[in-house]
Amino acid sequence: MQTATENKITLVEKPEGIEGAGFFATSLDKVVGMARKNSIWPLPFATSCCGIEFMATMGAHYDLARFGSERLSFSPRQADLLMVMGTIAKKMGPVLRQVYEQMAEPRWVLSVGACACSGGIFDTYSVLQGIDRIIPVDVYVPGCPPRPEQIIDGIMRIQHLVENESLRRRDSEEYKKMLNKYGIE
Ligand code: SF4
Repeated sequence: MQTATENKITLVEKPEGIEGAGFFATSLDKVVGMARKNSIWPLPFATSCCGIEFMATMGAHYDLARFGSERLSFSPRQADLLMVMGTIAKKMGPVLRQVYEQMAEPRWVLSVGACACSGGIFDTYSVLQGIDRIIPVDVYVPGCPPRPEQIIDGIMRIQHLVENESLRRRDSEEYKKMLNKYGIE
């Protein structure tokens, strides 16, 4: 007999493949993509008000755990998604970059809110005018602040990238060139 909890469990869809009696065949890329997509470990780099929206996103109502992301990592070495939320002062730039460099590949970056994406309303000498000046960004979430629904939309776009990324991308010349542009070896 199933319990109430068991009834609520939904399984992720299996990747495209060929199946028959007693077998299922697909590509390694697709299986790894499916696993990564549904077990993203985010590192929240929250410096100001957008971080509060993120806290709401983690709460029971919006419940980011539904996407396999309930395990937040405050250690860059055990995280694969860097979520930057808030105003990044130029003095904070090197710290953010160090955090990014300490993350192992594959890693993705979600820039949440106007401040992280472009400096927002703080067009001043002391504020970094967008984190993509120092690290590569995969998805931008606009808004000041963005609503939790927008943050979830950003996570789902990251999931789409994660699911469809080739296992060879991180070793490609194109990817290395892109990192080199940021001065990252
Ligand atoms: S984008 Fe708006 S809400 Fe987010 S950190 Fe900047 S000022 Fe605060």
